[in-house]
This record gives sequence, structure tokens and C-alpha cells, in this order.
Amino acid sequence: MTEGGGTPRFVADHMLGSLARWLRIMGYDTVYDKSLDDPGIANLARAESRFILTRDRELAKEPGALMIEADDLDLQLKAIAEKYGLKFHDDLIRCSACNGDLADLDKAQAKESVPEGAFENNDKFWKCSKCGKVYWKGTHWHGIMDRFRRLSLV
Ligand SMILES: [Zn+2]
Repeated sequence: MTEGGGTPRFVADHMLGSLARWLRIMGYDTVYDKSLDDPGIANLARAESRFILTRDRELAKEPGALMIEADDLDLQLKAIAEKYGLKFHDDLIRCSACNGDLADLDKAQAKESVPEGAFENNDKFWKCSKCGKVYWKGTHWHGIMDRFRRLSLV
């Protein structure tokens, strides 16, 4: 997993938790931290060159920020993808829970961390380098890809 030069990174405000999770699945480094207040979000965005995604009109005045008007997740993702030119990056998927990098996990090592059915039906597993969560592309993955295709993100 690499930090591609010029790949946009984000910080989402406290209203945008599910949006943040989806951006991580798409491969974009997205901070979502409920303990950050508005000035904290603005400071982090400046310090780490992140674009702010927000429902707050004041925060939306920060350079490069995007005001998220839509309530619907599909519309939110579409607006962001259009503004920043985003696509789904299969090799850059991040941990949806904590934004950590995912590293390949040997199948043998995954055995103790995943349900039996998932272990038997999958050969590729990933582990978050930060929180340790183990991932595989189970049946839920079809729904994820359907959404990305519907939104022309693949
Ligand atoms: Zn994680």
C-alpha cells in the first residue's frame, strides 16, 4: 500500500461517518475523528494537506473544502468523485473502521481470525496495520462493487 503522490486525502466532519468509511474502501485516506471540533478539523486539514468534507457552511469556506449538501450517500459520493476526480482503487483499499493501511495476510494466518465459511471460500485476506481487523471479499463485496459501478467509480 503506497501513498500515491497527488492522491487527495480528506478529513470528514462528525456528520459524515458513513461517507468516510466508503472513501476508505475506495482507497482514499480519510480522517473521521469525532473528538475533533471545527477548528481542530481546519488545523488538521492544513497540517496534513487534507480536503475538508463538511455539512457546515463555515468549515466549507476552508481552501479546497467541499460542502456536502446531499443526505443520500450515493449523491454524496458522486459529488466528491466529480470534484476531486476520484475512482475506486482496488489495490489501495483502506481499513473502513480506522483508516489504517491494509497489508496482505497469509491464508494460514487468517484462519483464527475469520469465520469458517469465509476461510473456506476465500484465498485472499488482508489485515489492518493499525487496528488488526481482518478483511476478505465476502458476499457483501458484490454490493460494494455494485454501488461503485452504479456511480461510475470503476
Ligand atoms: Zn483498522
